[in-house]
Amino acid sequence: MPSWKERFAGGTALLTKLSDNAQKIDDLRDEKNLLEFQQQALDLQRILYEAEQEIFRLNQEVDELKDKMRHTDSLEFDEKLGVYRKDGDPLSYCANCFHTNGSLVPLQVSSGIKCTVCGKVFKNPPAMVAFSR
Ligand SMILES: [Zn+2]
Repeated sequence: MPSWKERFAGGTALLTKLSDNAQKIDDLRDEKNLLEFQQQALDLQRILYEAEQEIFRLNQEVDELKDKMRHTDSLEFDEKLGVYRKDGDPLSYCANCFHTNGSLVPLQVSSGIKCTVCGKVFKNPPAMVAFSR
């Protein structure tokens, strides 16, 4: 599949052709010219539709990344305990899950400090339980 830039350049070239053809509007009674014109208009419509889809997808990606940044911008790694913490947040988060896929999984204190998602067990639970900001 051609890259997005190549497809967009193709769309621009097609628009030029379409505009040239529109200037020969008198010749549109010629069936061959008319069919070519209609085909180019359809191709252009498809390219614009794909552009819209791509813009929509990119906007979603931007929103997701912004959301991720909001969740992680105050994140600090506690080297002693091997967990992540945030300002003003009493919870500790699994470093393993964060490094693997960027997700913030709060660590449960109930049965030792074990991540409920990846199962990683963290050392030194008493210090972690005592910690709160
Ligand atoms: Zn985990």
